[in-house]
Amino acid sequence: MVSQNKMKYKLPFFAVLAVCVFGNCTQAPPAQSEFVLGTVCTINLYRGGSPRLYGEVFSRLRELEGILSANSADSVLAAVNAAAGVEPVPAGEDLIRVLERALYFAQASGGAFDPSIGPLVRLWGIGTERAGVPEAGKIEEALSLVDWRDVRLDRERGTVFLARPGMALDLGAIAKGYAADEAVKIIAAAEIPLAVIDLGGNIYVYGEKQGDRPWRIGIQDPLEPRGVYLGVLERKSPETQSPRRGDRQGGRDPLANKTVVTSGIYERFFEHAGRHYHHILSTRNGYPAETDLLSVTVIAENSMDADALSTAAFALGWEQGSALIRDEGAEAVFVFAGRSIRCSAGAAEIFTLSDKSYSLAEQLRPRRRSGRRGFRPRCLLTLRTGSEIEEI
Ligand code: ADP
Ligand code: MG
Repeated sequence: MVSQNKMKYKLPFFAVLAVCVFGNCTQAPPAQSEFVLGTVCTINLYRGGSPRLYGEVFSRLRELEGILSANSADSVLAAVNAAAGVEPVPAGEDLIRVLERALYFAQASGGAFDPSIGPLVRLWGIGTERAGVPEAGKIEEALSLVDWRDVRLDRERGTVFLARPGMALDLGAIAKGYAADEAVKIIAAAEIPLAVIDLGGNIYVYGEKQGDRPWRIGIQDPLEPRGVYLGVLERKSPETQSPRRGDRQGGRDPLANKTVVTSGIYERFFEHAGRHYHHILSTRNGYPAETDLLSVTVIAENSMDADALSTAAFALGWEQGSALIRDEGAEAVFVFAGRSIRCSAGAAEIFTLSDKSYSLAEQLRPRRRSGRRGFRPRCLLTLRTGSEIEEI
């Protein structure tokens, strides 16, 4: 019964579903995809796309891979890791900017998010052919090398130094977000009116569509094959908006120029002796973070922040994770193992549940981290179900 319902929402591999952009889909040039940054990246520039501009965007993505990749032996990041405990390495502006922000989120998350997670990521090898449960002693050893406070970033000299031999950076939780923001810069400079940037599910929707057809972005059902969505983010029609916020949306598309990034148990994992081991690791014990979450989707303006926040919130769990997201002024949808969903107030305004086997829990007030305003306690509102999703 459930799966029949789901078939209706089965979409192509890439998550963003722009409805017809200029009213006539057949005229739009095809989107372009390349395997870069360890994932399939798809860019759609709609009518503004030219081979030159696609080329420029993809070559920037490849350049960033050559700097930020933890998996390539000759990236700048690999050089920093190779010199751990030995000497500072000239890092260049891109690496410095990503690392600076990663260290900010390391501090903000109390170390749950940590860009020096490299030794543990390598040891577990999740997402590679050699993935397996390491010996406890090896986990302890790798964990002792993970500490963002031993990452020395010297902005003036433009260098990065890892204080202890064996330390290693891994920016897998933030690099795609930065790359999406960099792609947006190129697209904005070229004065392209509309674009979708999808870096392996790390999505940015650029521009605002004309007329009454808003951007629509599906949220993956973590328990179903890729392309099956449990709900949609989109501007709701005025009748289904809450009276208080209806005015605030004021007809504008709340997803225009926004990024939507998900971290979940289903991205990379392996199973062993009946247990599921996913790829977001706990910096407390060195094992995959134990959580009742299946995924966290963050909606924000800056993709680097959203990427870091989705991983950090997943590692922290609902209580602290939602507080962090609130403090950063972002919105989020948390999906729990018990098939319940919690949204921040702003996310609730644009989230439509389509899979009735999930339920929307009452919005709870997360623990306050600071004096800033953020999530308001509220009941989730009237939901419109059964919406259609069109393919690009
Ligand atoms: P994905 O890259 O699959 O979209 P995430 O953005 O959540 O998902 O990043 C997960 C990746 O981040 C892991 O594959 C690993 O490289 C790295 N990572 C794992 N645990 C942590 C952590 N606690 N802090 C920072 N990075 C992490
Ligand atoms: Mg991330």
